[in-house]
Amino acid sequence: MSGRRGFIKKAAIGTFGVSTVFSCINSSEKDTKKANGETIPQNKPLIISTWNHGLAANEETWRQLQTGVNPLDAIVAGVGIPEADPKVRSVGYGGLPDREGKVTLDACIMDSNSDCGSVSFLQGIKHPIAVAKKVLDNTPHVMMVGEGAKQFALSEGFKEENLLTDESEKAWKNWLEKSKYQPVINIENHDTISMLVIDAEGNLTGGCTTSGAAWKMHGRVGDSPIIGAGLFLDNDVGAAAATGLGEAVIRTAGSAMVVELMRQGKSPTEACKEIVERIYKKHSNHKDLTYLQVGFIAINKQGEYGGYSLRPGFNYAVCDEINGNRMEKSAFKMKNK
Ligand code: ASP
Repeated sequence: MSGRRGFIKKAAIGTFGVSTVFSCINSSEKDTKKANGETIPQNKPLIISTWNHGLAANEETWRQLQTGVNPLDAIVAGVGIPEADPKVRSVGYGGLPDREGKVTLDACIMDSNSDCGSVSFLQGIKHPIAVAKKVLDNTPHVMMVGEGAKQFALSEGFKEENLLTDESEKAWKNWLEKSKYQPVINIENHDTISMLVIDAEGNLTGGCTTSGAAWKMHGRVGDSPIIGAGLFLDNDVGAAAATGLGEAVIRTAGSAMVVELMRQGKSPTEACKEIVERIYKKHSNHKDLTYLQVGFIAINKQGEYGGYSLRPGFNYAVCDEINGNRMEKSAFKMKNK
């Protein structure tokens, strides 16, 4: 990549008010031909992450990739930023608790060889994505849950911490007054972070981390740690990830289906759209659909990307060499929020 660098530009990073140095390539250098004649499109590497907190995550992942860190570790570092940020109330430290006041975390990670690691219903460990990576690296398993996952994390050197911040505890106590379970979705900066990366060679990697739905039943696990639901990739085809009501995404094997539709020739946006519409249809016999929001992001092997959600308000952060790190609004099906 460095050999093709023509000049340096500063890319504004919107809401975070910081800037990062991105290198640009000349338009004449846009597409390069490999010896076998295959064309490598210009927009690799590329990172796409859900929601506004994706900007800071992308920035860190991009920085890591530029220093030669492998994409899996770069994802762990990138999504580790919102995990550690108490202002992000839907991921890691500061995440909103379940109805018993417990912060329970879910995460998974998957690489271009389809190796994956996942943890769910993990308590007291700030960085579930890093534990998921350890499951991938150091166990013969894919998924570990609850107390077993925590014991594994401790044996790997993670330390136990209280993840319930004063703010989140206050919010929980307010909720307790009415104790009405209603999924809170689609509020900017408050949702799962899913990140997909295509590296300079066109290999795909993904990760996903969340504290799940606020005020969920104790023990509830959503789509985010489930390979095929919250995240899926096939390095021959593309990668996809979800946000929104996890139950709806699990029922439809959402991310796996988006990848399969890309395999059949749909663009990333078309594939996301078809699954969102399928989810809507499958729920059309439910009395009240106002609770339902789902959104997907996807990227294909050519580095094309897109997203689609049921309702307006979903956005994602995209970072590449040409255009820097920026927010893009997702296309959506329904007009009303
Ligand atoms: N999909 C997550 C879950 O259901 C929550 C979210 O993305 O807001 O746990």
